[in-house]
Amino acid sequence: MLKSSFKLLAILGLIYFSAPAYGQFNLKRAVGSATKAVQAVTLTDEQMADYVKESVKWMDEHNPVTPDDNPYTIRLKKLTEGLTDADGIPLNFKVYDVVDVNAFACPDGSVRVFSSLMDIMNDDELLGIIGHEIGHVMKHHSKKAFRTQLLSDAMKDAIASTGGKAAALTDSQLGSLGSSLINAKFSQKQEKEADDCGYDFLKAHGRNPWGMVMAFEKFLEMENGQAAKSSYVTKMFSSHPETKDRIARMSERANKDGIERPAKVE
Ligand SMILES: [Zn+2]
Repeated sequence: MLKSSFKLLAILGLIYFSAPAYGQFNLKRAVGSATKAVQAVTLTDEQMADYVKESVKWMDEHNPVTPDDNPYTIRLKKLTEGLTDADGIPLNFKVYDVVDVNAFACPDGSVRVFSSLMDIMNDDELLGIIGHEIGHVMKHHSKKAFRTQLLSDAMKDAIASTGGKAAALTDSQLGSLGSSLINAKFSQKQEKEADDCGYDFLKAHGRNPWGMVMAFEKFLEMENGQAAKSSYVTKMFSSHPETKDRIARMSERANKDGIERPAKVE
């Protein structure tokens, strides 16, 4: 069975190739955009939520979401049973059946896990990653990153010209917003916060936080392998603090809490 690639990659390619055509020499246009950005800053929380909702909807419609009776869906549903909300943000989980190795969580509590990540991670490790991604949502890192994208050069004209109405955006604009949800760049401080918050979330919900350590270790093992070329692994290594430090820090917390490390299951 052949898996398709995650849809955003094609869209990102388009943006990459079309962007450098402007920029350098059209100063008037740049000044105009700056004025519009000021308008965009006044986006309400409702408008923000609407953009997130439309972006998630777009991604769900343009990627192969596994059906209810699919083994990936069944496994994720079982793993996430009882994980209903994160600080009041209702959570919902879906699997995209794609070749890329990735997982991400959106400000509205939508968590998307790629089947190829599920292929390489055992249950504890997968929950470790999910916990970390939910940590970014609970700490509002995802929302911040999304707002930044809404105000970016690529988007602010579109936001201003459509009067802040998410439904008025084009396909590629929604794709671009979706890319900011999946490729959000976080600072090292934010990564640390997401680790700690994810740890607390997993522990509070009766999941073993060692899963986070084990997932990091797996990424470390993969560093030189073929899978290291995947976007998620690259992200883990480029924007996350030293993986070894994170492993040590989370291990120390788990040991201090007297939590037993699960046996390694492949
Ligand atoms: Zn992270």
